[in-house]
Amino acid sequence: MGAHTMTATQQDENQVKTDLTLNTTSFVAELDAAVEAHLEWTRRILRCVVLQSSPGEDVLDLKAHTLCHFGGWFRTHRELFELMDAPSAARVGAVHQTMHDAIRSICSTVLAGRKGAKADLEVFEASQSELIDLLARFKTLILSAAHRIDPLTRLPLRYGIENDFALYQKEAKRNRTLLYVVIIDVDNFKPINDTFGHPVGDQVLCHLANTLKQSLRGDEPLYRYGGEEFLWLLKCKSATEARQSARRVLAIVGTTPVPIDGEVLRLTVTMGMALAGEQEDLASAIKRADLALYEGKREGRNRFVIAEP
Ligand code: GH3
Ligand code: MG
Ligand code: MG
Repeated sequence: MGAHTMTATQQDENQVKTDLTLNTTSFVAELDAAVEAHLEWTRRILRCVVLQSSPGEDVLDLKAHTLCHFGGWFRTHRELFELMDAPSAARVGAVHQTMHDAIRSICSTVLAGRKGAKADLEVFEASQSELIDLLARFKTLILSAAHRIDPLTRLPLRYGIENDFALYQKEAKRNRTLLYVVIIDVDNFKPINDTFGHPVGDQVLCHLANTLKQSLRGDEPLYRYGGEEFLWLLKCKSATEARQSARRVLAIVGTTPVPIDGEVLRLTVTMGMALAGEQEDLASAIKRADLALYEGKREGRNRFVIAEP
């Protein structure tokens, strides 16, 4: 196979992107606790009304919705909610406040010795029920997202690649740009495991995943493709730009050693790249990228090889 090969020669700027990772277990626990706490309000209102006793100053406060535990947690995690489903996130904010406002109105009316308003009770019931439905929806979203994310590197796993590839392929055709499928394989990774042990190997993969993420543009997805292999969908305007991007990644990886036990470990990768044809399917592009990768390994590693179409 004819091919261009290059080694790392230059380092471009390292673009740091926001990495919104989350701990699924604690997220789900917070959602469960929020459902529990807001269901509990039915009982608290009942006690207040029957016993004419104050439900607590926090409830009567005008900013009750910001004082409750969920309110505070939701505020600090709002960005994640918005990433998952922006309209529902906005609803959570609004409905949560409406619910607390209705509770305050019911309790303060009753404590003032007056009969509560039917409208307040209806607003409370409707907003409580909507809030609980919304929280259940976010729980489903977070759990279904979790199995698409690699727990070690926090990178997406391969499930979404086909869809992303099809979208980018159409986009490239429309904009007359190029889309490369790039397989990135760590060089001589097995000896790292053999020398330092598997947990250190894991640490090295995490570190490399972060380095790679930071060296790519935000709209170029990177997946954990397999063991010590990553897949990158590279969008660019020309073959020259593709080579520049590949060189930049090699340079950044080569100059970002991994700290382990007070030492630093230098790491290199080899990349096989295939320019996706307008009609080509992902499997075919991956196969060509894989062949280019093997060629890069044969030629000495720490380089990229672009497959001929
Ligand atoms: P080459 O330069 O030819 O790619 O050599 P290599 O040693 O990187 O490749 P090889 O395929 O021989 O070994 C890959 C190793 O990656 C073997 C496997 O045990 C290890 N590996 C795969 N997944 C993981 C993981 O999640 N954690 C750790 N620690 N090791 C992994
Ligand atoms: Mg491999
Ligand atoms: Mg390898």
